[in-house]
Amino acid sequence: MVWDKGKSKTFYRRKVCRFCADKTFDIEYKEPNMLRNFVTERGKIIPRRISGNCAKHQRKIAVAIKRARNVALMPYTTIDQ
Ligand SMILES: [Zn+2]
Repeated sequence: MVWDKGKSKTFYRRKVCRFCADKTFDIEYKEPNMLRNFVTERGKIIPRRISGNCAKHQRKIAVAIKRARNVALMPYTTIDQ
């Protein structure tokens, strides 16, 4: 598929990372309710291109989620039906 430069149909949503935008918003593994915004309903981490986070913060989120899982604040995956 060839992308026409004129009409950008690519989904480059130039969304600014919400953590960069709001410095008071901290990534904490002790905040599973917040971290839950970054996982699918099945408990998987939402990829950066969808979450819109920058690499730095996406990494922090991934680490926080893993830590939260470790201390059982979050599930690894929800139980498969
Ligand atoms: Zn960021």
